[in-house]
Amino acid sequence: MMSSVSSPSTHTAGTQEMLLREMWLGILSQLATSIPRSQFITWFKDTAILGLEDGTLVVGLPLPMSLNWHLEHYRALTLQAAQKQNATVEQVVYKVDGGLKDDPMRTFDLLKAFPEEKRRKVAGRQEVRLAEGIVSKILNSRYTMENFVVGSGNRLAYAACQAVAMQPGGKYNPLFIYGGVGLGKTHLLQATGNAILKQMPKSTIVYTTTEDFTNQVIEAIQQQKMEQFRKRYRLVDVLIIDDVQFLANKERTQEEFFHTFNALYEDHKQIIVAADRQPHELQLEDRLTSRFERGMIADVSTPDYETRLAIIVEKAKEYQIFMDMTVLQFIAEHATKNIRELEGILMQAVAQYELEQRVPTVKSIAEIMRKLNKDPHEEEDHVGFEIPPKRSSTFQDVLEAVSRYYSVSVQDMIGQSRVREILIPRQIAMYLCKKYLRISYVRSGELFSGRDHTTVMNAVEKIESKLQNDPQLLREVRSLEKELDFV
Ligand code: ADP
Ligand code: MG
Repeated sequence: MMSSVSSPSTHTAGTQEMLLREMWLGILSQLATSIPRSQFITWFKDTAILGLEDGTLVVGLPLPMSLNWHLEHYRALTLQAAQKQNATVEQVVYKVDGGLKDDPMRTFDLLKAFPEEKRRKVAGRQEVRLAEGIVSKILNSRYTMENFVVGSGNRLAYAACQAVAMQPGGKYNPLFIYGGVGLGKTHLLQATGNAILKQMPKSTIVYTTTEDFTNQVIEAIQQQKMEQFRKRYRLVDVLIIDDVQFLANKERTQEEFFHTFNALYEDHKQIIVAADRQPHELQLEDRLTSRFERGMIADVSTPDYETRLAIIVEKAKEYQIFMDMTVLQFIAEHATKNIRELEGILMQAVAQYELEQRVPTVKSIAEIMRKLNKDPHEEEDHVGFEIPPKRSSTFQDVLEAVSRYYSVSVQDMIGQSRVREILIPRQIAMYLCKKYLRISYVRSGELFSGRDHTTVMNAVEKIESKLQNDPQLLREVRSLEKELDFV
């Protein structure tokens, strides 16, 4: 006889589920401390433990495309964290479970469960009071000598900064770095400051922009505290001023800077400045120009292809966004003007991933570049990517997109394997070919290694009917359609 009362076994199952859920929260809490927050939220959203048996912890992921990323980047960390929760865990395996996406009972709302501790302030806006009246921007720890990629365009500037970092106030004083927008001047300046601070934690390092320096001078004049202003600056060990091209036409600030410069220089204190052009092109007072020319001058220029590729690889690592090598190469090939532009593309790709769950592909990147190119609000005059014109998707494109999306090889997809992991992607590819490329069943059968046309027909019909009642599959197919420009 059937009974409506829950049996002891379902009860146990429920308890087990609760325990696993609790265990996952424990693991997540640990991971949250070792993974940058945005990446943590992105990659661990809608995840759960699906099971734990014989030392194997099965972690459920909502989307097939995050599988590789977890395998490569988070498996070891997850295992470590799991073992702290439960010492019997020996390995972590992953399983894609589309249902997790709409199942708040099994997953956690990470934004709520792990609220941001303090609001991050806008980078570069934070200030620190080093001593009475001496204000510096906080050096951004993101800028280091280690993550600066050296290439032909910046080798000299980098070497000079390294030398200065090893021996501030030594041979290369002042150090003058110049070059166009987005080529790494600010990065180098701050990285040098960070490096000095690491070696000499007690040193007083002021990093400021010309704009801030000017404002301080103006304030001191207004409050008739010029004497104090001068005295204070003489206490500084390293003075770093960014964008000194803005000193042009500011006579009073130039004068103050000149005096500060001299005092520091005579005390063998290090001065580092950056500008968008060489000293003699800055239209400054002659005496200031000649002070700059007395030191070391190094330029940063547009990076070559190899350097651009190395930088984009580095940045992708920093942002922890997974990109295919072909995609990275595509960006390096087409974003030729400066590095900021290159980073901009990456940020957009990250946003696209977070918002739409779209893994960056050559196509989506080209789309981003096209948008950036057209943007009338772009600060810098013209971004200037050269992007190949749009073309319609082909059979090969469908295979590649599906293969990337489900992390299966094109070979397997057109091959004979009958395992489920391959079967569905293959059927989806057949469906897309039929629906959007209008490839006939017979031709499609030929393209998929000489299959019979009825096989293709069945596959297409199967997907069509599944789409009616499988929202997860529908989402996946939609995202592929978008990717392939079919919709
Ligand atoms: P600039 O001050 O010359 O306008 P930035 O220093 O602000 O340029 O650089 C723009 C962005 O490009 C920064 O995020 C910086 O980290 C990055 N960048 C520039 N050059 C390099 C490099 N050689 N290696 C790594 N990142 C770089
Ligand atoms: Mg700058």
